[in-house]
Amino acid sequence: MDKQAVTLIGLGPMGQAMGAAFLDRGHALTVWNRSPGKADGLVARGAVLADSVEAALRANDLVVLSLTDYDATYGVLGPAQDALAGRVVVNLSSDTPDRAREAAAWIAERGATHLTGGVRVPPSGIGQPGTSTFYSGPREVFERHKETLETLTGADYLGEDPGRAALFYQLQMTVFWTTMLSWLQAVALAGAHGVTAEELVPYVKDTVDIGQFLDFYSARVDRGEHPGDVERLTMGVASIEHVVHTARDSGVDSTLPSAVHDIFRRGVAAGRGADSFTSLLEVLRKPAA
Ligand code: NDP
Repeated sequence: MDKQAVTLIGLGPMGQAMGAAFLDRGHALTVWNRSPGKADGLVARGAVLADSVEAALRANDLVVLSLTDYDATYGVLGPAQDALAGRVVVNLSSDTPDRAREAAAWIAERGATHLTGGVRVPPSGIGQPGTSTFYSGPREVFERHKETLETLTGADYLGEDPGRAALFYQLQMTVFWTTMLSWLQAVALAGAHGVTAEELVPYVKDTVDIGQFLDFYSARVDRGEHPGDVERLTMGVASIEHVVHTARDSGVDSTLPSAVHDIFRRGVAAGRGADSFTSLLEVLRKPAA
């Protein structure tokens, strides 16, 4: 059976990788990008460059968007909205769950269907095994296009709510960016002492391998239990204080560990000093006063 033809709009690093993956696996591909020169490589390999968004939408029933965010989604689709009817728009641009829900409604009002996607790999992971993308939206539409979408990555369907894929994407990014920034903080501190990023690699890898902690704490957290039997928040405050002081003594920025310290201290002030650090959830569940 012929592979499904696809329209791909947005040729940043991610869209470029997606276009290449579709072509590699024999999908006919129509592309459009605000800066048309970015299509050159894909066109040289057989993609068709549409001369307008409207032409790109009309070319195929399945339209994949890889744009910076949902502002760009409206910026691109808004002027061509008359061409949306009957299309399935798989939006792999990242944004908030609320914006994904709004966009799904906006697309539905124009007679098309929105599938929200959250890609979990960098461009180098597109087309590779062992990768995945979160999807949510109408199940039947997802199932119909699953095989084509698996050209890009594995497909992890999370349900009908169009906000859910965006939510899981943001949950993952919450962990990713704070973890990556904490690594950079350590690299800055290490550098102040003549230790290189490469020397740190095995130790940081060990430290971020937190699976055993997640396994241990998650069930307790879900039960609302935060006993101080393994560690106590007051110990955590002392520990993070040493991190802040080491940063200051070393002449590097201490904003990040100081923010952690501040959250820990708020937990103690709320009377949780003898409980586990997981009791900080009570602090984190509401905005800071
Ligand atoms: P970029 O922001 O580099 O580029 C995306 C595309 O959006 C470009 O083609 C750009 O057009 C287009 N664009 C942005 N604003 C507008 C606008 N107002 N009107 C028309 N076109 C616009 O993103 P990436 O390619 O890196 O990523 C795409 C999506 O994938 C993002 O939502 C990102 O968060 C997500 N993602 C990216 C990962 C990565 O490692 N890169 C990893 C996982 C997810 P032009 O070329 O003209 O500037």
